[in-house]
Amino acid sequence: MKGKSEVRAMLRPGVYKQIAPVLFGSKMAAQAGKKAKELGVGRLLLVCDEGIRQTGMDSKMEHILKESGLIVTTWYGVQTDCPDGTVEEAVRIIGENHIDGVLGLGGGSVLDTAKVIAAAAANGLEILGEVLEYLSGAKSYAHHPLPLILMPTTTGTGSESTFVAVVTSSALDAKVGLPCAADCAIVDPELTMSVPPFVTAFTGLDALSHANEALAEKKNTPHSDLLAFEVVRLIKTYLPAAVADGSDREAREHLAFASNLAGIAFNESGVHIGHACAHALGHLYHVPHGVCCANLTPAVIELQARAYPEKMKRLGLIMGAKISTDEPGEIGKKAADAVRAFAKELGIPSLNEQGFTEAQILEALPIVLNDPLGYAYDGQITEEEIRFILKRAYRGSYGGN
Ligand code: NAD
Repeated sequence: MKGKSEVRAMLRPGVYKQIAPVLFGSKMAAQAGKKAKELGVGRLLLVCDEGIRQTGMDSKMEHILKESGLIVTTWYGVQTDCPDGTVEEAVRIIGENHIDGVLGLGGGSVLDTAKVIAAAAANGLEILGEVLEYLSGAKSYAHHPLPLILMPTTTGTGSESTFVAVVTSSALDAKVGLPCAADCAIVDPELTMSVPPFVTAFTGLDALSHANEALAEKKNTPHSDLLAFEVVRLIKTYLPAAVADGSDREAREHLAFASNLAGIAFNESGVHIGHACAHALGHLYHVPHGVCCANLTPAVIELQARAYPEKMKRLGLIMGAKISTDEPGEIGKKAADAVRAFAKELGIPSLNEQGFTEAQILEALPIVLNDPLGYAYDGQITEEEIRFILKRAYRGSYGGN
């Protein structure tokens, strides 16, 4: 039964998943060409953004791929949060050059854009007008997406191990999920060494938010819990070190592992109300996804503590909270406070500090009400609960109602 001791409780039944093999570790990037060949690719589209071009990783990757005998075209047209119109050019390039595989090298925006390109190149750009039909399973692709390799260069989204691409739909005027998964993920921590401190901080808190929401989404399993709690421990241990010193290899490596584990955890379980709110706020105000998640996670913890006090107590204790009570409301506040303080120490600005008004934040409410993700929480999400999450995220304290 929900809310009872995990030590002596029966295990909850569930489906354990991992959708694609993950090559994890330093220097694994060198395997990319070999993996593409194994997937039957001869001509490959390397998908990057301008930020990756500035690091020089794109040309190193081109070299690795060409050494394996691949014909490579590099495309830099990725924009943050994958506006759906941006993939049109990439799909045209694929058609003109008879390209038969896609490799995404970058943060979540790049990985998700690469997913959308792989799906749209095989099935036509029309799929972008019917994202919710594909997401709900009402429609399925006529053709398998092009072979797809994903190589994350940030440590937050875990997109390389999830079944979905977050795309900004022009038809729906919202951030929504289009199904598409990698055939192979390559997680090489070396690729993350150049991530600036602020991006390191907010992507780490994105991974923390995945772990937190995976603990309470309705498909949660003992397996996703195991991964999620380890993610919380790794983020608490290593994120401050990587933000303070980006050249800390040990911290970077553990964060790359944590981000991927969090992706596997929430691909199996799910994310819910926090992400529905983060997508709405990200779409309305273009706040980086991880900054939205960092501000929302404490409020989500409070909500989840009502149904899952033991899990939220354990999470709070890992995050350094002193919790001696078993009272769900108190557990929620103490665990939330620990995460809020952690984010503040890492330099994540509150919504208030970013200049928003509470009324602006509450403008997300009708969008969240229409987002299927909002209803993925185990409890009954009501308008009142969404209002609670948004207000708490804004105020960051317990005053008012
Ligand atoms: P991002 O991909 O937008 O990248 C942020 C910035 O960091 C960019 O300017 C980028 O160029 C730069 N960057 C990336 N790697 C770098 C490196 N190694 N060195 C220097 N700069 C680097 O940010 P993100 O947080 O990784 O991704 C956010 C996106 O991912 C959002 O659209 C979010 O909705 C989506 N997302 C998807 C999933 C999923 O399962 N598909 C999960 C969570 C988030």
